[in-house]
Amino acid sequence: MSGVKGTTALIRLAQNPKCEVLGAMVLQPGSEKTFFEHVVGQPYDREFGERQSSRRRGSQFERNAYEGDARLLRESLAGIVGKDPEDIIVRNLLEFEPGMKDEARVRRLGMTRKILADQSAGRDCPDIVIQPQGLLPTRPGLKPYFFVSADALVLARSIGRYKVCDLKSFVVRQNEVAPGDLARVRLQLAAQHLALLHDYDHVGAPFDLPAEGVLIFSRPNGLRPHDPRVEDIGGAVEAVRAAIRSFIAHRDKIQALASGAAPYTVVDDLTPHFREGCLTSCVMAQWCRDRISGRAAELGDDALDLLGDVELNRLSDLMTGRAEPTDAAERELAQALRSIAAANGLAEVA
Ligand code: SF4
Repeated sequence: MSGVKGTTALIRLAQNPKCEVLGAMVLQPGSEKTFFEHVVGQPYDREFGERQSSRRRGSQFERNAYEGDARLLRESLAGIVGKDPEDIIVRNLLEFEPGMKDEARVRRLGMTRKILADQSAGRDCPDIVIQPQGLLPTRPGLKPYFFVSADALVLARSIGRYKVCDLKSFVVRQNEVAPGDLARVRLQLAAQHLALLHDYDHVGAPFDLPAEGVLIFSRPNGLRPHDPRVEDIGGAVEAVRAAIRSFIAHRDKIQALASGAAPYTVVDDLTPHFREGCLTSCVMAQWCRDRISGRAAELGDDALDLLGDVELNRLSDLMTGRAEPTDAAERELAQALRSIAAANGLAEVA
């Protein structure tokens, strides 16, 4: 299991920006599983993360798309590039700088930025860049940047700039995908898009790119690319921006608490923000669920959103009149609870 790093971390933070524990997990070097073991003091022995079979399918889909000088990708993206597939120029950066270690990523980042500089200056450049490397800065502080990698950049004739493009091996019919999957991949595209904006800026060619990204899903037979879908990612871009702001706030708090110690050491002083989605997305789910026991979040996302992070006993006391509200918000809440109780004959209302 890999760590909560790069784009994955940004997606997780965008889905749950209020969780300080997640902030510590992103800051902590090593895998999520190791983080769990540090915090809980026990081995993590459950299945978690992407299944081997879907990882294999993803790799196979990419291999199919990239083989033969990316023939299938060229055919799929020809309309966006505005050229005949035979005339499209492809550069696969992994062929020049292979590997997923940071040193290789840094070298690919340099190559990507050189291509962006060439493109914006009107010099020769590829129409499709496979495995470019982007970066989103969060300096200064621990973890001063996120590495963010799109599967490809495609030079879109409509805007005269590159757009981010991701290949997804979900097998979809009619090019339609489940809303939950689509929301997640839009966040992924949004992080890549923001990194592309930053890198254009870095090479002295700032450009207000439209908030769009290109998705290519797999056809049901043979893991061949569908026609590309150009996605509006305006909402997702704002969510990722908010995630970065939250991460920086969590980091400030964690660094102040830890005074140089490892982030996991201060987890008891951090506030989790347990959501129903945590159960399928985070190794810490059971630990956090135990910590919210007896609080509104235990009743589900709607209860937490409606009632706030409040103890269930407190709600009960406010409803029955055993406790007096201490502020306007509690007075409103108490009134609403008493009305509900009275309407349902659930409790004796004081
Ligand atoms: S389970 Fe949810 S609340 Fe707990 S650390 Fe993970 S994201 Fe945060």
